[in-house]
Amino acid sequence: KIKKIGFIGLGNMGSRMSMNLLKNGFELEVSDLNEAACQQMSNHGAIVVKDCKQMAGEVDCLISMLPSSKEVLSLYIDGGIVNSLQPGTTVIDCSTIDPGTANFLTPIFNEVGTSYLDAPVSGGIIAAENASLTFMAGGEADDIERVKPVLLSMGKNVIHCGPTGSGLIAKVCNNLLLGITMIGVSEAMNIGVKLGLRPEILAHVLNMSSGRCWSSDTYNPVPGVLDGVPSSNNYKPGFTVKMITKDLKIAEQAAKRSALPFELGGKTLAVYEHLANGDFGEKDFSIVYQYLKEKP
Ligand code: NAD
Repeated sequence: KIKKIGFIGLGNMGSRMSMNLLKNGFELEVSDLNEAACQQMSNHGAIVVKDCKQMAGEVDCLISMLPSSKEVLSLYIDGGIVNSLQPGTTVIDCSTIDPGTANFLTPIFNEVGTSYLDAPVSGGIIAAENASLTFMAGGEADDIERVKPVLLSMGKNVIHCGPTGSGLIAKVCNNLLLGITMIGVSEAMNIGVKLGLRPEILAHVLNMSSGRCWSSDTYNPVPGVLDGVPSSNNYKPGFTVKMITKDLKIAEQAAKRSALPFELGGKTLAVYEHLANGDFGEKDFSIVYQYLKEKP
């Protein structure tokens, strides 16, 4: 039974996810390069551990929530964590990274008697806060069953997608669609508003109609339509433009590997890449609404 959990990466998502582990009574060790993020968790009862190798030897389950493959590989491979883990420990990486990285890491963990799961999440910071994330997991069914109480402390749904890497394939497909719908909603809302509709009326219509999607009904990009979303808070992330750009690049690779078209994906990636290279990289990705509004 899992009692003690290590959590590495206390950013927009990890800070909220790890809070829910504390609320559910798990003993929690945390680590992040950002000291303020660690301090905040320490105020709530988590133990801050600087040395991730030390943490690895002390926990029943180790979770990482890092920006990209680069940080995940640097933590697990360069950080020497693999050899510090107790046999039987389950490592769960919740970051959105390239499925190939999960396939590369799995045998390395298995060799030392530990298991590795890719379990990326969907729902954004609101679902992270409310413990209503969806986990899409890749790996062995037994391992997923063992960590279900942990995942269900942070989310509502755990979907076993198949062997290692499958959770990430699902996540990348989801975020391809998310990037596309955010631009689609932004384009439609801009046109309707410019032609005289009140944004909350147009959003209400979309959300009762066939255009409804998460980008319209849960994370609407127009300021003032919804409370508590980044668009109503000066586009403070949330989910940054840089992050969706990273995910669309992974989706592009996936499309190449599958020899299938990347039509809307390509256009969507070009828009976010343009924003990421400008001043909007650290803003929430729903800022694409403002970009389309002001685009010459
Ligand atoms: P973030 O940039 O807010 O947080 C990442 C954290 O990792 C930061 O606090 C950073 O200091 C820390 N970090 C980086 N390298 C580290 C290292 N070597 N050791 C310890 N800490 C380190 O990112 P986020 O928005 O929380 O996203 C994390 C992952 O979750 C990404 O892969 C993202 O694509 C994915 N994701 C994000 C959202 C969202 O809405 N923000 C939703 C679903 C999935």
